[in-house]
Amino acid sequence: MAEENQGTQQKVVPQKEAAPQTQAKQDTQAKQDTQAKQDTQVKQETQAKQDNNRKPNNNRRPNNNASQQRNTNDKQNGNKPNGNKPNNNKPNTNKPNNNRNKNKNRHRRQPTPVDENLKKFVAKNQEAHKQRLNPHFKLDLNSKAKIRVTPLGGLGEIGGNIMVFETEKEAILVDVGMSFPDETMHGVDILVPDFAYLREIKDKIVGIVITHAHEDHIGAMPYLYKEMQFPIYGTPLPLAMIGNKFDEHHIKEHRKYFNPIVKREIVKIGNDFEVEWMHMTHSILDSSSVAITTEAGTVIHTGDFKIDYTPVDGYTADLHRLAHYGEKGVLCLLSDSTNSHNPIATGSELSVAPALDRIFSKAEGRVLLSTFSSNIHRVQQAIQYGVKYGRKVCVIGRSMERNIEIAMQYDYIKFNKNIFIDADEIGRYSDKEVLIVTTGSQGEANSALFRMSIGEHRHIKIKPTDLIVLSSRAIPGNEGSISGMLNHLQRAGASVAMSKDIHVSGHASMEEQKLMLRLVNPKFFLPIHGEYNHVMKHRETGMMCGVPERNILLMTDGEQIEIAPKYMRKVKTVKTGKTYIDNQNNHQIEDDIVLDRQKLASDGVVMMVIQVDGSNSKMTAKPKVTTFGIVPDKQDKAFAKEMEDVVEHFLLHIKDGTIDNTRALENDLRQIVRKHIYRKMKKYPLIVPHILLVS
Ligand SMILES: [Zn+2]
Repeated sequence: MAEENQGTQQKVVPQKEAAPQTQAKQDTQAKQDTQAKQDTQVKQETQAKQDNNRKPNNNRRPNNNASQQRNTNDKQNGNKPNGNKPNNNKPNTNKPNNNRNKNKNRHRRQPTPVDENLKKFVAKNQEAHKQRLNPHFKLDLNSKAKIRVTPLGGLGEIGGNIMVFETEKEAILVDVGMSFPDETMHGVDILVPDFAYLREIKDKIVGIVITHAHEDHIGAMPYLYKEMQFPIYGTPLPLAMIGNKFDEHHIKEHRKYFNPIVKREIVKIGNDFEVEWMHMTHSILDSSSVAITTEAGTVIHTGDFKIDYTPVDGYTADLHRLAHYGEKGVLCLLSDSTNSHNPIATGSELSVAPALDRIFSKAEGRVLLSTFSSNIHRVQQAIQYGVKYGRKVCVIGRSMERNIEIAMQYDYIKFNKNIFIDADEIGRYSDKEVLIVTTGSQGEANSALFRMSIGEHRHIKIKPTDLIVLSSRAIPGNEGSISGMLNHLQRAGASVAMSKDIHVSGHASMEEQKLMLRLVNPKFFLPIHGEYNHVMKHRETGMMCGVPERNILLMTDGEQIEIAPKYMRKVKTVKTGKTYIDNQNNHQIEDDIVLDRQKLASDGVVMMVIQVDGSNSKMTAKPKVTTFGIVPDKQDKAFAKEMEDVVEHFLLHIKDGTIDNTRALENDLRQIVRKHIYRKMKKYPLIVPHILLVS
């Protein structure tokens, strides 16, 4: 703004700019201005234009401004206007400035003498900056120690985070999360990282470090612990939530591996690792970044974070500890890339408060608010405003009930118990006295809100006076199911509020990522948590913040990176992948089942029964073929007949003895049927031959 104003005559220049000018100097300058104008108007105009072209910022220099705006300043300073009209009534352009600038140069032929001592200090300060900003100088470059980093999930995808840190003899894991399937994985509820590499290094693992309690950071813990167990280190909320999962999976006894930690206290894990948890703000309580120190140096893993300067609980991110490590020297930073495309700083969790207040102050009927059940601070704020406007709170949905319960049990939030009512008590209150906090903001088919929307919830029927508040964003891929649920809710007559100001992200945008990079000032940088385009963008931000391009690597799952004070390089690739889980029974679904389901869903199935006489290896009846999902019912018979003919023709013409080898025969049958169907339908259905031996 200041720079723009300097070009406008009417604006008043700050006093300090005009003050150093003495009256005599001003007079002289004014005379010079006039003289110069009379003598060399044309020449100067040309010169001014040239100067202007060369130095577009000329008019922004303080020296020029002083004279340019003197008319205004004179009055302010109590000086007499000099009456010379130096600007010749012209609008304030650059020309007079440059004229005067040139005259001034003429007048002051000798350059200002340089103070050699000051110059020395400029050099010394430059050296100090160099030392301060280059992390290279802070590391022990003689150390031969190194650390290896391997993501087994969370890179090239959102979710399923699990990161292995290894020295020669020991290893720790940071987070063991799950992710969600896409729509092609029929009947799969969650995905768990493949533990193949962990089985390989099982004896090296000395502990698991947990950054925070989101599902994509702890969701796979019970599946890992059913197979192998290690000490678990974390703050109380993540441990409480993992404990809950252990209970659900009937492995309560594994709670004995819990090692609760205190933030800012360094914990020794095994012989090789020293870990400090540093408080972070995020969309779940009690989140942390971790500083992992080994002989090779300190590596900082941010976990998920945003920089919230006004968090609901007042516990701001521990920027001081990050800066402390930055000052000491950090070998490598691994930082959250989720929002790396967003240039606008992520808002504070408190920023949703005005919208919530507005909603509750106006709502006439029941309010049903849905958000991520883990976002306890959002739920807390919703409850606060509900209570403020005289509502009782009914919490519906298993994960929502459980999370609020844990947060209250462990004193993360405090509410008077009498504000809560059960679902079957709602009828006792008028609509204006009811707030329902529920799950289902992503339109999940088994969530409470979805069931309410289709009229299948046991206690809650949607009314036309209801206001549904979706205080969340759509996780990519869920847009369709959310839209479907909105259709149901609106068909039932309810109003829906889902404006931008009732949700705020939990992840750092570019500006916060920059702050992290500048505080930690790492030598090497590994952007993590995100698909390729997210980490790619974060690399750009890293380079803007002084990390050389050669010191940044973009990892994908399974790539092992070796980091030493002198270098960082990729050393090998380990096996990764996903294990499919059916949530109904918490069991694994084998890969081939999911592949079969995909085939069934997209291409249908062909079944055939062939009867063979065991004594003479001859067909005893015409083959029978049945298909599903390939042709419409009315063509079913004709199509089956056609296939039966193909199969019969094949069987009548095969070599003697082939029919006895049922496995080979099945393969042959699959092939000819596949060929035939592909030629006709361009489909590859699942083909199931049955050979019945009769005698
Ligand atoms: Zn998170």
